[in-house]
Amino acid sequence: MGMVLVGATPDIERKQRKAEYDQEYRAKNRERIRAYQRAYYKEHQARLIAKQHKYYEEHREEVLAACKAYREANHETIKERVRKYRQSERGKRARRVRDRRYEQSAKGRANARRGYTKRRQGVGAIVDFTADEWAAMLGKHDYRCAYCGEPFDLCREPTQDHIVPISKGGDHTKSNIVPACKSCNSRKNNRPVEQFLEELNASAAPR
Ligand SMILES: [Zn+2]
Repeated sequence: MGMVLVGATPDIERKQRKAEYDQEYRAKNRERIRAYQRAYYKEHQARLIAKQHKYYEEHREEVLAACKAYREANHETIKERVRKYRQSERGKRARRVRDRRYEQSAKGRANARRGYTKRRQGVGAIVDFTADEWAAMLGKHDYRCAYCGEPFDLCREPTQDHIVPISKGGDHTKSNIVPACKSCNSRKNNRPVEQFLEELNASAAPR
């Protein structure tokens, strides 16, 4: 037992010296080593990725457990790193690409439609008004605002005003919609139409 220890001592010392030397070397040549690693990785990328995949397949449970342990042990560090990445130009660009992809996907489009319908619907409103019906209605009103009578043009674009506001139980249907300029639409806001017309007449009377 004693013999083994005596014999092992110089070996341990030698290993320790080597470890210290290696550490010093790495600290001094950090950039060079990194550049070398990057070049090496690039050259052998396909093979290295295949190797990684194979390792993952064979050690799936272990890898997942190690990842979980790492996440749990470095929770704050990871959060901070993610935050920094999101604020970086690269992170922002990635976000834009991801958003655009989502918006163009079937799921994103369906979600947008749902949101649109829901906003218009209020609670339980009937939604039944087509683009053709809207065009016909504009023609019937001589392409003028139903309230102030001013003609629509590029500066006065027509909006769909709900005679009984959706929020007051009105429906998004032909019988509850009139073309209105933006100004009248926002002045009427969520009031019943009679109240708005009274105000409109009162303000027009002195002229
Ligand atoms: Zn108007």
